[in-house]
Formats: sequence, C-alpha cells, structure tokens
Amino acid sequence: PEQYDVLIVGGGAGGVAAAASLLKRRPRTKVAIIEPRQEHYYQPGWTLVGAGVFSPAHTRRPMTDVLPGGVKWIRGAVATFQPEKNEVILEDGARYGYEVLLLSPGLKLDWDAVTGLRDTLGKNGVTSNYRYDLAPYTWEMVQSVSAGKALFTQPPMPIKCAGAPQKAMYLSADHWRRTRRLKAIDIEFCLAGDVLFGVPDYVPALMDYVEKYGATLSYKHNLVAVDGPGKTAIFEVTGPDGETSRVEREFEMMHVCPPQTGLDFITSSPLANDAGWIDVDQTTLQHKSYPNIFGLGDGASTPNAKTAAAVRKQAPVAAVNALRVLDGKDLVARYDGYGSCPLTVAKGKIVLAEFGYGGKLMPSFPEWLIDGTKPSRRAWFLKERMLPPIYWQGMFRGREYLAGPDMTFQKIAAE
Ligand code: FAD
Repeated sequence: PEQYDVLIVGGGAGGVAAAASLLKRRPRTKVAIIEPRQEHYYQPGWTLVGAGVFSPAHTRRPMTDVLPGGVKWIRGAVATFQPEKNEVILEDGARYGYEVLLLSPGLKLDWDAVTGLRDTLGKNGVTSNYRYDLAPYTWEMVQSVSAGKALFTQPPMPIKCAGAPQKAMYLSADHWRRTRRLKAIDIEFCLAGDVLFGVPDYVPALMDYVEKYGATLSYKHNLVAVDGPGKTAIFEVTGPDGETSRVEREFEMMHVCPPQTGLDFITSSPLANDAGWIDVDQTTLQHKSYPNIFGLGDGASTPNAKTAAAVRKQAPVAAVNALRVLDGKDLVARYDGYGSCPLTVAKGKIVLAEFGYGGKLMPSFPEWLIDGTKPSRRAWFLKERMLPPIYWQGMFRGREYLAGPDMTFQKIAAE
C-alpha cells in the first residue's frame, strides 16, 4: 500500500489544523488526509446561521481551498484499522500505510436514537443548528412563530459545543423580545442533565437571561420521541428516586440537539475505549495501546469541552508529538484541556466560557478586556468577526501565535 509519514483521518477542524501545524514545522513530511466530503464546514458558525446573523455559505468552503499545500487528499472514508500492520482500509477496499496515524474523525450525531425525529427534521417546526441544511430553518421558524410553545432540547453529555442548545434558545428569545412576541411564546429548555452548564462560574450570568426571557428549565428531561405532524415531543423524565416516567409536550417549534456518540467505525475498532471514544492520553493525545497513533477533536476520549477552540490547542500538541515519534524521541507537547464556549445570550452579547480540565477557568484575556463570567459586547465581536479568520487563516495555516502565548513547545519542536 501507499505509505505516508503521517496519515490523518478526517479533514475537519482537527485534521486540517494538525496537518497545517505539521507541515509548518517540517515542510517535507509526507502527509495525507483521508476525507470523504467535498466540503469543509465551519460548524461554530451554525449558531449564528440559526439566528440570521451569518449566511450558510459563510460557513462552508471547498475542501481543496482548505487543505494546506503539500497535503495529499485521499477522497474516501476509512472503514477499518489494522494497527498491528500500521495500515488503514477504506470503504472501497484501498489500503494505506503510515508511520504515524492521527485521528480526528469527529463524532456521530445519532438522529435515529430519537424515535420519529429524522422524518420530521426541517418540517413541522422541528429544527436543529447541528446540521448545515437545517440551521437556516431555525431562523425561518424563529421569524414565523408568534405564539405558543417553543421547546429547546439537550441530550446527555458529552456533546460537541455543550452550550449550543441553549445558545439557540437565547438567540431565539432575544428575537422574540425585540419583536414584542416574547410574552406570547412559552419557552421551555428540556435537558437530560441536572445543571444548566457544567462549569458553575458561568451559571449566574446564564440564569439572568433564563429569567429575563421567562424560560422554564426542565432538568432530567431526555427527548426520546417526536410526533412531527402531531407537533408533540415525548420525554423520559428521571425523578428524584431514580424512577423514570414519560411526559408529553405539544410545541409550535422545537430546536433539537441530537444524542451524540463515537462513530461506528471507531466504536467497532480496537482503538476505542469502552465508551466508544478514541482511547488517548488526555495530556499527550497519544493512543493508550498504540504509541504511533494520536487522537484529537470531538472523537477523542479527552474529557475537555468538545469544541473547535479545544482543537486549536490540541492540533499543535498532536503535530509536535507525532514528529517526536517519527524521530524516535520522547513526547514533549502537553494539552491542558482548554476548551471554550461562547454563549450567545443575546444578539450582540456573549458569556465567554473558557476552561480546562476539571472546570478550571482559563481566560485568554485580562478581566478588564473581557470578563468571561459576564455578558459582553467585546466577546460577541470576537465570535462574529475574529474567530472565523482565526480558524481559516490561523489554525488552518499553522499560525499558532494566534492561539495564544502558551505554545511554548513550539521552539522545542522547531529545533
Ligand atoms: P469535525 O470538524 O466534525 O470533522 C470530522 C471530519 O472527519 C469530517 O469532515 C468528516 O467527514 C470526517 N470523517 C468522518 N468519518 C470519516 C471516515 N470514516 N473516514 C474519513 N473521514 C471521516 N466549537 C467552538 O469552538 N465554538 C463554538 O461556538 C462551537 N459551536 C458549535 C455549534 C454547533 C451547532 C456545532 C455542531 C458545533 C460547534 N462547535 C463549536 C464544535 C466544533 O465544530 C467541533 O468541536 C469541531 O469541528 C471538532 O473538530 P473535529 O476535527 O473533531 O471534527
């Protein structure tokens, strides 16, 4: 089979950023990305598509424009791994060999885990910002609903961008407030868990908006079925004694965040842990059983917030450590668990959650500039105007100084 120094699975945020980082450090490395899609999506923009701020086209680029120069694109999908032989096999049977394998395939949006959901998506008022083709329907619904029940759902953790389900709620509510419909619309946020946001420091600021919009929070409500034409959602509710029961809600519109798991070709492989995530060390991103395999992004087992912000810090770590393995040297780069979730509490205002492992706050800015625990206009400016270019022109071009001053291992790897 064709042989590469570094073979990357997935041309999403993690795969492209890691390739850029590798080639910036060592341009002659033989790198290929295996990716079936023609297009790359900037998913963090979909929250703003659902609020009518970004156009869908703003979040999509041809794969050929996104891949860094010097990377070979293998257009296909990986089916199985043969880590003992250092080979991967594609769905069409083609085989590729590697010295180092880097995995960033993302995760599976499990639409079929909710009975009746797939058939009613994009119809009957049922929408989701988790899909490129549906995010515009969110904005359509938000503009057209004038009274009745608006449901927003959140499945069990972990999910990518844990704040996205409530971001959709706040931005919709803000529009209804501005157009004087808020009083007529009964907003309910049904979440499977029992906290509004996993890091307590951000919760007071979020609760202010929940109250301002008059939204009801229904904890331990897990969406299990939807009757689209009947406009009814069914939730499994866990009571204080641990017993479950079912409740129904009729709705005018419903924004769904689907349940999320590892991808089938990962969960069925020898590379997954019991929970179905790529089994890597949370600091070095090295696979726990195969030292020449690394994992990053949403599909990895690392217990950080699954975000592109996390990928921004993980990609150079994976790239540097991959080069160290190629050189037969010890791993030097370490990931601290950083992730970020810009919570859009209103159009023009964001609570900028930034934290690492264990919920440790890791603000990128001094408090006088942006205090992440309070809503701010500067954080909105960052999200709307600065983060997209940091993604396309920073992360994807290996310009890691844009990721902040903590990339100290850059010098070590450049030697
Ligand atoms: P992805 O970017 O999803 O890429 C995975 C790639 O792997 C895909 O291109 C896929 O086609 C490919 N692939 C899959 N299977 C195979 C296979 N068998 N073989 C080869 N390739 C395969 N992050 C933030 O930082 N801030 C935000 O505000 C934010 N908001 C979000 C809002 C929404 C609605 C969503 C959906 C996400 C949001 N995110 C946000 C999360 C962010 O988009 C992800 O964390 C990030 O894209 C993860 O990168 P990844 O490389 O792991 O996966």
